[in-house]
Amino acid sequence: MRRLPIYFLIDVSESMVGTPIGQVQEGMRAIIQQLRVDPYALETVFVSIIVFAGKAKVLSPLTELYKFYPPVFPVGGGTSLGAGLEALMRDIDASVQKTTLETKGDWKPIIFLFTDGNPNDSYQAAFKRWNEKYRRHCSLIAVSLGDNVNTRILSQITEDILLLKQTDAESFSKFFKWVTASIKTTSVSVCEQNADTIKLAPTTGINLEKIDPNQHAGTTDENFVVLHGRCQTTRNEYLVKYAKHSEPLKGLEMFSATDFKLVGAYPIDREAYAALSDGKGVKINTLELVGVPTCPCCGNQHGVVACDCGGIFCVGEQSSNECPWCGMRGELSNCGPEGMNIARGLG
Ligand SMILES: [Zn+2]
Ligand SMILES: [Zn+2]
Repeated sequence: MRRLPIYFLIDVSESMVGTPIGQVQEGMRAIIQQLRVDPYALETVFVSIIVFAGKAKVLSPLTELYKFYPPVFPVGGGTSLGAGLEALMRDIDASVQKTTLETKGDWKPIIFLFTDGNPNDSYQAAFKRWNEKYRRHCSLIAVSLGDNVNTRILSQITEDILLLKQTDAESFSKFFKWVTASIKTTSVSVCEQNADTIKLAPTTGINLEKIDPNQHAGTTDENFVVLHGRCQTTRNEYLVKYAKHSEPLKGLEMFSATDFKLVGAYPIDREAYAALSDGKGVKINTLELVGVPTCPCCGNQHGVVACDCGGIFCVGEQSSNECPWCGMRGELSNCGPEGMNIARGLG
């Protein structure tokens, strides 16, 4: 039997925390559910999920549909698209059956790449290897989740670049239906017509747009700031996400005032996070942050308190506090500007 390998190469960097990662998780479940009741897909489709943040990981190896269970998605720090692509190429080498003189191998693998940001690793070597050895033998569909991706970078590895403009629940759900429909039509065409090319479903009625990277470069500045906190009470870890908000200054149209508005705070699995992170921290001036969440682990009132060591932790009613990162103890009330800084919004 010739299999149709479908790879999902998914960005799970910190900015995906919250709604986007929840939607991707939900979307993957819906895709598998719908493909399982499709006779053509059931016959040919094999699915694999590879995630990347600072590092890459094969979450689900290439598996036939009826045995496939959508995994739980972790998040990590960093966006190493190069590492993600390397993991994909390694897996294609190991799992996809090549066509030889004697036997017909698998159908051309289809890769759906979902990303919401720009790579921060040196991806050039991986891109070069991809273009030389794999690109002709695969169909790679790159999808920018939101308008924060420099699509010129993606255009170095594929011609098929799509932009999902809105990233609310409804847009995501329509988008995943489109992915499902595209996989279904492709599996019909390989079964019935022996045609080894991807057939994308029409995008009418979806917030999905094919991008010409020469016309569209995306907004290349980062739209999110994500802080990595540790709960003082439980020692569990969490992420606090802020969205960038710029407003032109009156009379100074060249300039704009920028601040970061709170999106939410989310507990994370410390080990999964560490395994996927590149360890490159980002320093942020907490004065630009608007709004402070309660701690998502213990409910303490102040979820963003910064220690001198750079660590973020939670603080409640108690007057004496210990930084769960470095162990420094301090009285919040008598901390000068050199001591513990509380983010703006606490007054
Ligand atoms: Zn806490
Ligand atoms: Zn500390």
